Amino acid sequence: MPKREKKKKEKELARVSRYYIIKGDKIERRLPVCDRCGPGYFMADHGDRYACGHCGFTRYKRRKH
Ligand SMILES: [Zn+2]
Repeated sequence: MPKREKKKKEKELARVSRYYIIKGDKIERRLPVCDRCGPGYFMADHGDRYACGHCGFTRYKRRKH
């Protein structure tokens, strides 16, 4: 089913673009850097928290009230 495949691809592309900000020819990552590892070590988005794949540090996202 080519239609379904196309839809999935578009969805994944949208998901990825959430993590990047494209400014002209530059691409900036929106993810925070790890407090332990420092700049260069980005934390992965795990829904309600960020986790560093390098040291395992987890930071919870601030919830809006
Ligand atoms: Zn780390």
